[in-house]
Amino acid sequence: MDDDRPVTTTDAGIAAASDEHSLTLGPDGPILLQDHYLVQKMAQFNRERVPERVVHAKGGGAHGFFEPTQGADQWCRADFLRRGRRTPVFARFSTVAGELGSADTARDPRGFALKFYTDEGNYDMVGNNTPVFFIRDPQKFQDFIHSQKRRADTHLRDNDMQWDFWTLSPESAHQVTWLMGDRGTPRSWRTMNGYSSHTYLWANAGGERFWVKYHVKTDQGVQCFTDAEAKAMAAEDPDCHIRDLHQAIARGDAPSWTLSVQVMPFAEAADYRFNPFDLTKVWPHGDYPLQEVGRMVLDRNPDNYFAEVEQAAFEPANMVPGIGPSPDKMLLGRLFSYPDTHRHRIGANYLQLPINQPRVPVHSYNKDGAMRYRNPGDPVYAPNSYGGPRADPSLLEPGWSAAGEMVRAAYTKRRDDDDFGQPGALVRRVLDQPARERLAGNIAGHLRQGVSAPVLGRALDYWGQVDADLGRRVAALVGAAPSSAAPEAALAAARTSG
Ligand code: NDP
Repeated sequence: MDDDRPVTTTDAGIAAASDEHSLTLGPDGPILLQDHYLVQKMAQFNRERVPERVVHAKGGGAHGFFEPTQGADQWCRADFLRRGRRTPVFARFSTVAGELGSADTARDPRGFALKFYTDEGNYDMVGNNTPVFFIRDPQKFQDFIHSQKRRADTHLRDNDMQWDFWTLSPESAHQVTWLMGDRGTPRSWRTMNGYSSHTYLWANAGGERFWVKYHVKTDQGVQCFTDAEAKAMAAEDPDCHIRDLHQAIARGDAPSWTLSVQVMPFAEAADYRFNPFDLTKVWPHGDYPLQEVGRMVLDRNPDNYFAEVEQAAFEPANMVPGIGPSPDKMLLGRLFSYPDTHRHRIGANYLQLPINQPRVPVHSYNKDGAMRYRNPGDPVYAPNSYGGPRADPSLLEPGWSAAGEMVRAAYTKRRDDDDFGQPGALVRRVLDQPARERLAGNIAGHLRQGVSAPVLGRALDYWGQVDADLGRRVAALVGAAPSSAAPEAALAAARTSG
């Protein structure tokens, strides 16, 4: 060979004689099975895909760092939140319902998942670009997602099914209001906020506990597409959000976000006016103002999309000392479902892949399994008297006390625990008139596409409860009148007939 390019090899490192011709019996003869290089190429190709994520399949990501500005010592003892620290981060952004090739600009919430490679192990915040969610009990999650994906018969998405679920689940009203508004179609990932949505429990060095919600606000300013712009972009460049982030970082225009928290002293949760752990509600800023903690910068593109983005595995169960879960039922469900999907999708030892492995030594007694390449030595059990690692009881995660009969029930209702108050506040107090007009137009446009009469009637009632003017405006745009039945009666009737 007359140049210094390396010789192609098989994956076993054996030099290959041709990249272009299979081994045959004469130039025109049959291919021979002993062409192990060809066989390996064909077999490996057939196995190139891991199952795509059931939700959040389409996405992109980037590396960067997090550094505290104000820090959070007074509320949390987690080391990476202390001023002076700088922690590597990997972020992944995504749509929810579409498959791997779907358009980045679809009207959908966006995943906003962060992995902090801290000196105390990995800390993952698996948030969204909205501070609330459609439901508040994980029992309904699978059904919710089925209603947003594809029908069994036609394999098509179906607005009737989406509105059927939403209107039978009035707790969805806050998130659907958000989704149908301008923020349902972000202009880019760089110009959207992230929120933990869930409440977490923090404990400081003195053991004092606080409930917190995270707000990761874009320093680029929030920018959104109109519905028409988003649809045009879906045709022109369905990968525009992946492209935008990649190009910005490549030209040295590293996007950044400011992390703030809302902090509720532990004891205040017990008699706050609504359940503060309900994922369909925000904590009003007037009650719990944002407190700045730090800043995140994304300044390095992945070298390999599959290895770093497709195989990235975020899990809200990854919490470092000083941080624990709250009694938010959705969060408690997600603590199980995320690692479970990674074991299925990537494999039992997904935490050993470079993108997922912590930057600190691992001393666990878990061992073996498919594709494991680092194993504990002896002793392989605890307790042992042979010098193996031992747990530290002082690291008990922060928690809370609970007692009661075993039930299947909604959260105990409090004074302000209604489903329509906060979406109503968003419409009346936060949106201006042009934004309200766009909201009504987006809702009506969605409702005009294949929504059956009974579901449409319920949808108009639903919007009338969010805001009477909005309900009337949507009804006028779709050319229908709200159903005459009282909303609660209409819901009960729909549930029994369904
Ligand atoms: P505030 O007036 O203090 O906060 C309203 C917030 O709404 C803003 O800070 C901004 O949050 C967000 N916002 C602005 N424009 C839009 C939009 N087009 N779509 C969605 N959100 C927007 O009021 P409250 O805290 O009392 O909350 C009132 C309502 O505002 C809530 O019911 C909720 O729907 C919405 N909201 C509240 C948030 C909270 O955590 N309290 C967070 C976001 C929205 P940001 O800067 O985070 O974008």
